[in-house]
Amino acid sequence: MSVPCPQCGRLYTWNGQRCCNRYCRLGSSLPPEIDHTERRRKAFLAAGGRPARAIWVPDWYGLDPPRLEIGRTAEYLFFPAWKEDERLRLQFYTGLPSGMPHAAWGTIASIQHAQFGPIRLIDAGGLDYHIVLIDGKEYCVNAEEQPGQLFEKHGEEWPESSMQIDDWTFTIEFSALADLEPMQKNA
Ligand SMILES: [Zn+2]
Repeated sequence: MSVPCPQCGRLYTWNGQRCCNRYCRLGSSLPPEIDHTERRRKAFLAAGGRPARAIWVPDWYGLDPPRLEIGRTAEYLFFPAWKEDERLRLQFYTGLPSGMPHAAWGTIASIQHAQFGPIRLIDAGGLDYHIVLIDGKEYCVNAEEQPGQLFEKHGEEWPESSMQIDDWTFTIEFSALADLEPMQKNA
């Protein structure tokens, strides 16, 4: 039996008594949890943010921000140290056990790397990261067995690239980034 929730549209529990969505919980005796990501999204859309620059140093193994793309508005995670010491650079969180990250919604304006040059998108959602440059060149980076091993698209082939990357630091500029907020355990 599947009953859609009249409040949020998600499905009710199997016995049709309450909504399964923990941010809604219609019909439940428990109060709904706050969807902090959604709350931050609304605040960002209403109030905007400030231009900001962050660096990303890949940690590989799928621990990196899953997608960086020019024009993309999303919630991004950062190392908390920046908030405590403003002399430190704002740096993308990479999932190491270093405390809860800080979250902020923002819109990416540019992605730069010293050797790749201007980049349009980096898809780090799998264990081979995909990099597409502004000029259309495409690269694939191994992120698991030999992290940093680089392949370059030529037609339908992906031969190993002759480029040697000395420093994997990327610089990401935001046209707008909201104030950073420590993440809650449930968000
Ligand atoms: Zn619901």
